[in-house]
Amino acid sequence: MGMNESEIYSLLNLSEDYVLDGFRHDHPPLVRGAEAPQSPRQTLDHIARQVAGCTRCALHRQRRQTVAGEGAVDPLVMVIGEGPGAEEDRSGRPFVGKAGQYLDRWLAAIGLDRKSNCFIGNIVKCRPPGNRDPLPEEADACLPYLKEQIDILKPKAILTVGRIATQILCGRSEGIGQLRGQELDYLGIPVVATYHPSAVLRNTDLRAAVWEDLKRLQALPVLAGSLPE
Ligand code: SF4
Repeated sequence: MGMNESEIYSLLNLSEDYVLDGFRHDHPPLVRGAEAPQSPRQTLDHIARQVAGCTRCALHRQRRQTVAGEGAVDPLVMVIGEGPGAEEDRSGRPFVGKAGQYLDRWLAAIGLDRKSNCFIGNIVKCRPPGNRDPLPEEADACLPYLKEQIDILKPKAILTVGRIATQILCGRSEGIGQLRGQELDYLGIPVVATYHPSAVLRNTDLRAAVWEDLKRLQALPVLAGSLPE
């Protein structure tokens, strides 16, 4: 007799070593197994439940809630930041604090929003204490979830906000001042890098650069005709 979804989920939690081994060797993700749900929304929800029970790195110890990400299942653009902050940790939703509200305004300026054509996620799904940068081992442990989300969502373009997200996703080491404006990609998906909204709230001189980056995103050939001019 086949297992139902909650039995599979329990098995996943009980078999963490096996899951880790699977990720480490790039085995097909267990979420895609014969018993797994099939629609993109169901698969994303399934990943969110895996994240909610995850103890793969030390960040699980101090989190209140995990923040798996949210948005459209067929997004034009996926926005990727580095990790949840205090308000996201409390709410379980990405980019809901002051910086998140600012990000929503950036997106709206080029015809994007998290309900209809955008998905918002992070490199790590649990809050680093004190909003410090995620450690390399924390990012490594969490990255398979993000990669799986990108694979399911198939965004036409990616907007990375901040140095950490851009470096980790694109395998680069420069600062964000050097990375923004460059032609970047993740597995063939064009990536536009810009500053993190919280950095721009601290330093409003960065606003002009962000606007340039948003216009570059809007003008990408893969988004031609999809966004207002
Ligand atoms: Fe798991 Fe990612 Fe949270 Fe670490 S940050 S415990 S890998 S969900």
